[in-house]
Amino acid sequence: MSQLERTFNQPLGGNEMPRFGGPATMMRLPAMETAAGLDACFVGVPMDIGTSNRPGTRFGPRAIRAESCLLRPYNMATRAAPFDSMMVADIGDIAINPFNLPENIRIIENAITGILGEDCVPLTLGGDHTITWPILRAMAQRHGPVGLVHVDAHADINDEMFGEKIAHGTPFRRAVEDGLLDTSRVAQIGLRGTGYMAEDFDWPVNQGFRIVPAEECWYRSLVPLMQEVAAQFGDGPVYVSFDIDALDPSCAPGTGTPEIGGLMLSQALEIIRGCRGLNIVGADLVEVSPAYDPSGNTALIAANLLFELLCVLPKVEYRQ
Ligand code: MN
Ligand code: MN
Repeated sequence: MSQLERTFNQPLGGNEMPRFGGPATMMRLPAMETAAGLDACFVGVPMDIGTSNRPGTRFGPRAIRAESCLLRPYNMATRAAPFDSMMVADIGDIAINPFNLPENIRIIENAITGILGEDCVPLTLGGDHTITWPILRAMAQRHGPVGLVHVDAHADINDEMFGEKIAHGTPFRRAVEDGLLDTSRVAQIGLRGTGYMAEDFDWPVNQGFRIVPAEECWYRSLVPLMQEVAAQFGDGPVYVSFDIDALDPSCAPGTGTPEIGGLMLSQALEIIRGCRGLNIVGADLVEVSPAYDPSGNTALIAANLLFELLCVLPKVEYRQ
């Protein structure tokens, strides 16, 4: 066993236990009760009572963990070696109340506050997108208003859905109302689809958000976009929220509100890798609904994108 392996948790290797065996933690990392002593953690929020169309994201964390079994510790494209310099573990799921959405806002905010209190960066496995509002409440309490890279087919800035203020289409409206976002440092990437009103995307623009519709991404590398985002965002704290429906449903069908004409996988990788150098204080990957994902591909993509998010955290070392 090398010094590195003694110092930092490592994913269980495929030559120690077959990849289809062993505990089904994220990346086959050790399971921990709390975030104490960790630099970063994976944490699940198995919730779908904020969804408006197809349900099922309560099963998202479990499916993502299952499909993460093939992930190896090194990023061959970027040479990121996250387990060389960070203590990482899977701290399990937040015990949400499956019958009470407002109560879950408190439960999730408290749980994330506890993680941040350990100086640990949470990487959250959703769950529907409602969960990002309470996460941002915890983030802003610790760091002040944060910048936001929000990758999604939808802006999620509705004032209400079916008369309700708390839903998966409203988290960023609530976040603005609560003063949780540095609205001069918000980018929403991948927006598209049909709207309730033709002006739906005007509200985020009027808040100062940069919106990047999917059409502006088609046929293009997003490396230049992310260079602009990095220059705009500077050194301040940044949260990354990745809704899997940002991707085209041809590659990621397992989600509740799919929209055609979405991002390609290579563009998702460019967006996340383009976040390297930002002061990322947390991230989530939401809206994976396994019932609509018969191949498991959507959860496989989600697991890989969560690894890519781990690879751009500020404490990560890169091999020469
Ligand atoms: Mn969303
Ligand atoms: Mn969405």
